[in-house]
Amino acid sequence: MSSMQLIDRYSRQVAVIGKEGQEKLSKARVAVIGLGGLGSLVSMYLAGAGVGELTIVDYDTVSLTDLHRQLLYREEDVGKPKVEIAVRRLHDLNPTVKIKPVNDALTEDNAEKILGGMDIAVDALDNWLGRQVLNEAIIKLRKPLVHGAVNGWYGQVSTIIPGKTPCLFELVHVRSLPQCVGYCPVVGPIVGVIASIEALEVIKLITGIGEPLAGKLLVIDGKNWVIDEIKLSRVENCPVCSRYLKEK
Ligand SMILES: [Zn+2]
Repeated sequence: MSSMQLIDRYSRQVAVIGKEGQEKLSKARVAVIGLGGLGSLVSMYLAGAGVGELTIVDYDTVSLTDLHRQLLYREEDVGKPKVEIAVRRLHDLNPTVKIKPVNDALTEDNAEKILGGMDIAVDALDNWLGRQVLNEAIIKLRKPLVHGAVNGWYGQVSTIIPGKTPCLFELVHVRSLPQCVGYCPVVGPIVGVIASIEALEVIKLITGIGEPLAGKLLVIDGKNWVIDEIKLSRVENCPVCSRYLKEK
C-alpha cells in the first residue's frame, strides 16, 4: 500500500490524533482476550484504527445465539472457530494490520507467552475464572488492561495500570461482576457501547491523549441512561498485587 493510500485511510482520524498519534498506533501491539460480543467489536475498531499488531484469543466456535451482538460473524460461520473467521474478516477490513490468532483459552500456562510482547491487553471475557488468569498475568507483567463487562442492559469499563490503580481483584470488591448461570443474557447494542469505550481507552493509552478510566469504573445502564463513574480505591494487601508487585 502506498503512503498516499495510508494517509487517505486514516485521514479523518489523523485530523484528531495527529500523525504522531497514528504512528504510535501503527507500532502498538494489543491483545484482545475473548472474541465474543466485546472482543469482536473491539478488534474491528482497533484493526480499523490501524493498530500495528492485534493478537486475538478465543477457543470457541460461532453459535447462532452469538449473532445478535457479535457483528464480526455471519450465519454461514456457525460452527466454525471464531479466531479463524476473525482473522479473515479483520484482514479484509485492514490488510495493513498484522493479526495473530490464538485458538485457545487464556490459561496460567500460556498467559505470559501470549501477553509478554504486548503493550496493552483488553478484557473481553465473560467469566471470572478467565479474568482472574488475565488479571494475574497483567499484574505480573505490568501491562495495562482495559476491562469491560456486560449483562442485560448494563455494562462497565475500567482501565487498570499495574501498581498505580486497583487491579481486577480489587475492582470486584467494589462492584461484583455479573454472575451468569450458563450464559449471560444481554441486549446487543449495550455490548457495542461498552466495546466502543474499551477501544477508545486503548487508543487513548497508546497515543497518550486524553484521560483514561484509570482507577475509575464507568457503569452504564442503557435502559434508563444512568451513567455512574465510581472511584476505585486500593484494597489493602490485595493478594494479586502484593504477590507480584514489590513495594516501592
Ligand atoms: Zn490488586
